Amino acid sequence: MRAAVYRGPSLISVENVPVPKISEGELLVRVHTCGVCGTDLKKIEYGLVPPPRIFGHEFAGTVVEKGSRVTRFKVGSRVAAHHHVPCRKCFYCRKKLFSQCESYLRTGTTAGFEPAGGGFAEYVRVMDWIVEEGTIAIPEDASFEEASFLEPLNTCLKALETAELERGEVVVVYGQGPVGLLMMQSAAYEGARVMGLDFIESRLAISRELGAEVALNPERDRVGEAVAQMTEGRGADLAIVAAANPQAIEDAQRIVRRGGRVLLFAQTMAGEMVPVDASRICVEEKKLIGSYSASIELQEKAAHLIFKKKINVARLISHRFALDQLLEGIHLASHPSEHSLKVVIQP
Ligand SMILES: [Zn+2]
Ligand SMILES: [Zn+2]
Repeated sequence: MRAAVYRGPSLISVENVPVPKISEGELLVRVHTCGVCGTDLKKIEYGLVPPPRIFGHEFAGTVVEKGSRVTRFKVGSRVAAHHHVPCRKCFYCRKKLFSQCESYLRTGTTAGFEPAGGGFAEYVRVMDWIVEEGTIAIPEDASFEEASFLEPLNTCLKALETAELERGEVVVVYGQGPVGLLMMQSAAYEGARVMGLDFIESRLAISRELGAEVALNPERDRVGEAVAQMTEGRGADLAIVAAANPQAIEDAQRIVRRGGRVLLFAQTMAGEMVPVDASRICVEEKKLIGSYSASIELQEKAAHLIFKKKINVARLISHRFALDQLLEGIHLASHPSEHSLKVVIQP
């Protein structure tokens, strides 16, 4: 089969590799759509993990082969899979810190080499613990493209849960790229009044279209005044930094009210130092928190919101590429423009 193999920093080569073999509790899935995710971009661009690997964890496709022990799915089932699930038993799982669980770190979908997702290939092997707990059936009236957003949407819902969002709160989302727009829509769905911020005008228009009460460009607009207007001068209840921009972290600490929360969502590079005004945390009692990856307890909710079209994910796809164009897709996704949003690969 054809697969896009990561061979080193910014090095992807489309190669012939063996179709993965499955065992009795596993599935083989023909990939239809796989989203290009920001975390993969960073790993590929900066060579954060040793090669070779086949990335791509936001995939949906059709079961073409199943192990003898699998009863949940049959050949022809349309599915999407989370690439890791927690053990639900350990110290961290008992505290619902699922993404800190040791078993969670084990990637359970692969197209070969060290498991890394495997969605950037024609076929992907879904290992038994993912078949049991992390694989979702796609209803007939939903597309593979929509289903490829299950994991990213889950991560947004989890972030809002971590931030203890309450109905009626005012939320500012820094960055209205595909993830920021997903976050904005999730917060609006949960009953928040949302302001979306981005430097790209087309993204602001989409943000308003998809439910932001206000969408502004911080380079041009007076964000502070607009937030004050929405909050009787207090400041936002919650600011979410869905942009890899240290300035946004600094601004977010200023924009939230006393006792408000700033949630970091795009800061996944180890060793990255950011500006923090400690007095805002100590004196103004603002909280600086973070959230990473998905929650197994939110899988059904994410599926419901996407499959019942409560959250518009189809609108977020701007480019569809074949496997050979993965590098172009990666370049586009990491250099956002007026015309780009979510890039997906269709092997
Ligand atoms: Zn992802
Ligand atoms: Zn665990």
